[in-house]
Amino acid sequence: MKLVIIGGVAGGASAAARARRLDEKAEIVMFERGEFISFANCGLPYHVGEVIAERSSLLVMTPEMFKARTNIEARVMQEVVAIDRQAETVTVHDLRTGEHRQESYDKLILATGSSPVRPPLPGLDDPDVLQLWTIPDMDRIKSRVDEGARRAVVVGGGFIGLEIAENLRERGVQVDLVEMLPQVLPTLDAEMSQPLADELVHHGVNLHLGRRVVAIERPQVDQAVDRELHLKLDDGSTLTADFAVLSVGVRPNSELAAEAGLELTERKGVVVDDHMRTSDPDIYAVGDVVACTDLVTGKPAQIPLAGPANKQGRVAAENACGRDRVYRGTLGTSVVKLFNVNAGSAGHTERRLKESTKAYRKIYLHPASHASYYPGASPLAMKLLFSDDGTILGVQIVGAEGVDKRLDVIATAMRAGLKVTDLADLELAYAPPFGSAKDPVNFAGMLAGNVLNGDSDEVSCEAIPDNALLLDVREPAEYELGHIQGAAFIPLGQLRHRLDELPRDRKIVAYCKVGLRGYLAERILKQNGFDAANLTGGWLTWKMFNPATAVPIEAAPSPEAPEAAPAEMAVARQIDVTALQCPGPIVRVRQELEQMNPGQILELKAPRSFRSDLGAWVGNSGNELVQIGDQGAFLTARIRKGTATVPAASCGMAGPAAGSPDKAAIVLFSGDLDKAMAAFIIAIGMAAQGTKVDMFFTFWGLNVLRRDTAPPVQKDLLSRMFGWMMPRGARKLALSKMHMMGMGTGMMKYVMAKKNVASLPELIREARELGVRFVACEMAMNVMGLQREELLESVDDIAGVASFAGMAKSSGTTLFI
Ligand code: FAD
Repeated sequence: MKLVIIGGVAGGASAAARARRLDEKAEIVMFERGEFISFANCGLPYHVGEVIAERSSLLVMTPEMFKARTNIEARVMQEVVAIDRQAETVTVHDLRTGEHRQESYDKLILATGSSPVRPPLPGLDDPDVLQLWTIPDMDRIKSRVDEGARRAVVVGGGFIGLEIAENLRERGVQVDLVEMLPQVLPTLDAEMSQPLADELVHHGVNLHLGRRVVAIERPQVDQAVDRELHLKLDDGSTLTADFAVLSVGVRPNSELAAEAGLELTERKGVVVDDHMRTSDPDIYAVGDVVACTDLVTGKPAQIPLAGPANKQGRVAAENACGRDRVYRGTLGTSVVKLFNVNAGSAGHTERRLKESTKAYRKIYLHPASHASYYPGASPLAMKLLFSDDGTILGVQIVGAEGVDKRLDVIATAMRAGLKVTDLADLELAYAPPFGSAKDPVNFAGMLAGNVLNGDSDEVSCEAIPDNALLLDVREPAEYELGHIQGAAFIPLGQLRHRLDELPRDRKIVAYCKVGLRGYLAERILKQNGFDAANLTGGWLTWKMFNPATAVPIEAAPSPEAPEAAPAEMAVARQIDVTALQCPGPIVRVRQELEQMNPGQILELKAPRSFRSDLGAWVGNSGNELVQIGDQGAFLTARIRKGTATVPAASCGMAGPAAGSPDKAAIVLFSGDLDKAMAAFIIAIGMAAQGTKVDMFFTFWGLNVLRRDTAPPVQKDLLSRMFGWMMPRGARKLALSKMHMMGMGTGMMKYVMAKKNVASLPELIREARELGVRFVACEMAMNVMGLQREELLESVDDIAGVASFAGMAKSSGTTLFI
């Protein structure tokens, strides 16, 4: 058998190598019109940026190595210019000698790939208008930068445009990126691409979204040709650059196939069956040149990606060698890194589903990339699209860490035909540095299940009904950091007692930071007869839809010319608290500020989850948060020390009465029955007199909040042991003295009942009815391995020490029991 392959990179080289492994005797010839075979085109941008230092690393195979290893003739600089299907020959043009000759075949595989689109633009042929597709393309761009080019315009904000923009910035080049759509990366929906736009701006890329280049000029000044390239945009503005990189899409190299009379789609992709066979049974086609089956629609589609090209090459080779292999189709699973943000997708975007008028539902969520108590966790933004029968139609994920892992799991689930609710049951590897016991993928499945079974009406930001009341159920510190204009504000913990403030004749759309408390509020409201819904993805998703409402992200200074900070912003001290557990970060911030003079600036790097605690603490401590921004998985902030001295946290039986006399904060540290009762009796007494009481439960005090019977939760052995050893809930607490193997405690309960003294569970209920807030200490929960589900539903919040310090500061009385 003689197998001829046209094209020697991803699909072609894969097909050739596989065919050799199946048929040692076959004559295999591979024609490549370029100079290189099997090179790593996906790595090209990174050699420009010098992330991949060695150019030779990209040259995976040479023809000589290929011949030695596989006994395959890889003939470079040889272009196939015609196929004669009757004679079963191809005409080969030797680009070095100019000669033409015929080569016969028994089976032919077309792997001619695609080429960058070149729009009909005046000035496009200027030698400084470059593209990035091949090794020589890469060499041209890199040598322009090496020779000192300092300004570039990237035209097109798809994968390649983004990757080259990043790598040019890494080399210190000033970059303007022009994209005709109002967003970058069209494989994502607009709102999901917002973090990428922010990241570009943050790294100093000048973004021109919704703009088109209409002409490229090189003006003449005094007969001399200007060295600058001028790119005219459709709004009349002009960008000047040393060179431009054009990356506005690709088109299949299907001219050969067309001239040979093979069937093509409207978009000029070669039509293939599930064996990668074209309309001629002896000719196969693979890679960017084919229209493969889109797994979401079942229809042919152009999906130019390296993974599918490689796999199709293998399938075509097997079938050409007499085996029976099926290629089922492509989901378009793809991922891109942009500075510190990663983004990926599989299946269809919402935009495409709308175009195809396919019915869908959607949810947004923002889980942490791994256990939030383990350093470095960062939020993921996830969007899941699915149909009423639970079929997963698309997924999009953006974040600093763990994007690819979740994307791959969901793409695998899609390919296996799992339903969206099956995601909840997937058993995924877990340890704190990697994920959470409920992985973001599981969480997505649970949320989708709530939507499908009618437990939750998830409303998305752009579909909030006109007359709906938006209800913010977050904590005051979060609300103050930013909220949706016009929203009512009732923290979740107060909702049950303030229902009479809400209208019954309007839809209420509850929202929180990420959607969980919004969902809890929705459930409370619905069960109290309100027409309620939850804003899917909460405030964080709202900010993606409405970036102007977000805390502004400042552009990073250009690498070659760092902008001098204004004198008043000169940083006096820097600290990194990314690895500290609550309350470590706030303690370190406070310690540092104590040693600084008023007006001096402290620069801080912390986990992103520290944002609300920091906001609350700074607001209460007399200091000023002058700048806050994101840096990959972390946040960076600058705090100006205020003139007021930072007060010590209130501690002991009675703290300083600096705050409002109408507010009290009680820390319940003890898990003894008598002390807990004393705490509740005091809280009830104060609340009954109109004092607003916050109770902060930490360490043994957390046992008071444990449910008698908690739902099963996943725990490690140590946490389970803690759970067994500690009393489960208010009914199980023992006296601090005279417990006497349970006799003393039993006697006390008997006497209390006889004398009509309320039991601890009754006191807890009474305190709730009087509006006492229960806040569980996050750090103590982590240490003791307690999870939210194990605590009473009436717990208002889980918070760090900064939130408690905020409570204490604003309270007239602080008690520690
Ligand atoms: P190619 O790999 O392009 O190979 C086709 C070859 O055929 C070419 O070398 C061409 O010279 C040759 N040829 C064409 N016509 C003839 C002819 N008549 N005679 C002889 N030879 C001919 N995909 C991803 O999935 N992830 C990524 O991160 C990624 N990054 C990329 C970054 C860059 C800069 C580029 C350029 C592409 C990237 N891609 C990525 C896309 C991926 O490389 C392509 O989808 C994949 O290479 C397609 O494989 P193919 O075999 O169809 O075509």
